[in-house]
Amino acid sequence: PPVSTAFNPSARYTKPNNAPIETQKETGSTMTIHNSLSELIGNTPLVKLHHVTDGIKATIAVKVEYFNPGGSSKDRIAERIIDAAERSGQLKPGGVIVEPTSGNTGVGLALVAQQRGYRTIFTLPDKVSESKRAVLRAYGAEVVVTPTDAGPDDPRSYYQVAERLANTIPGGFRPNQYDNPNGPLSHYYTTGPEIWEATDHKVTHFVAGIGTGGTISGTGKYLKEVSDGAVTVVGSDPEGSIYSDPSDVHQYDIEGVGEDFYPKAFDRNITDDIVQVTDREAFEMTRRLAAEEGLLVGGSSGMAVVSALKYAREHDLDSNQVVVVLLPDSGRSYLEKIFNDDWMRENGYGDIVERTSRPSLAE
Ligand code: PMP
Repeated sequence: PPVSTAFNPSARYTKPNNAPIETQKETGSTMTIHNSLSELIGNTPLVKLHHVTDGIKATIAVKVEYFNPGGSSKDRIAERIIDAAERSGQLKPGGVIVEPTSGNTGVGLALVAQQRGYRTIFTLPDKVSESKRAVLRAYGAEVVVTPTDAGPDDPRSYYQVAERLANTIPGGFRPNQYDNPNGPLSHYYTTGPEIWEATDHKVTHFVAGIGTGGTISGTGKYLKEVSDGAVTVVGSDPEGSIYSDPSDVHQYDIEGVGEDFYPKAFDRNITDDIVQVTDREAFEMTRRLAAEEGLLVGGSSGMAVVSALKYAREHDLDSNQVVVVLLPDSGRSYLEKIFNDDWMRENGYGDIVERTSRPSLAE
């Protein structure tokens, strides 16, 4: 049986950038105690899907990003963005990090900022769940809620409010995850190599949702370079977002993905194809992943899996293909929405509740 590396005296913890870190002091002790949570960012596991993949011959493996200490893939970009800002002098002791974020980037930034003594202020649209806001406040962040229907040019939008605060507060620093090259770079240096190694260089497809585009652009760039272009990169996008259909941009319920503008973090040359998903398809798959695969993940994860399955079916991928799908965060942040039957019914998803619920013994 595999021996747990946690109690192996010769075990070394390998950081995502492959710099080995001694977790073992020269004391003869066999304890492995990490010095800080930051050491645990990255190196998330790949898990094979078995039940929602009906009729698909290819291996569908998911990269479960909720294993990051802040609970999402955004821990990766937070660490690299803050490191870079300290090096460049944009962030100085006593500095204030101000960012518009749907929650996960905020958590990553709040976590790293908390450990290094920076104040954090986040602006987010009111469609973001109350539980996500509570998490940010728990880490000591300040939260400013803005109207979801305010477009990017509206002074009330979460982008513009963040911009104003960063410019007026002394020591203010805007990570600007939509433009900051350290976002995609963090995935280029960590997520990509992790997938390449974990699949023993056999990955053939990479599927990820597109929000800022950092995940797909950074990971995709690495996988294409290292495989000499053999890896196909597939974006997943909500219906209503600009990436899959610029002519029909409208609101949708899936959080954290899709945009109404093109961020600099998104490199269109890396993505080979984009597969569109409706709120309905994403939410049904999100509930199925929990019930059938034991994966309690967020709506953008369900969305990415739907895109992967659609792509695998459409292209008739065979058993030699290894499709890796990135699942950005945990379903715990969506208990009041996707996993709440009343919310689902009130928002027109009653049919999904019927299809994904088990009959009650009381009936
Ligand atoms: N899913 C969720 C829940 C997110 O918060 C984000 C980040 N906005 C994404 C997916 C998309 O990741 P990226 O910004 O790297 O495209």
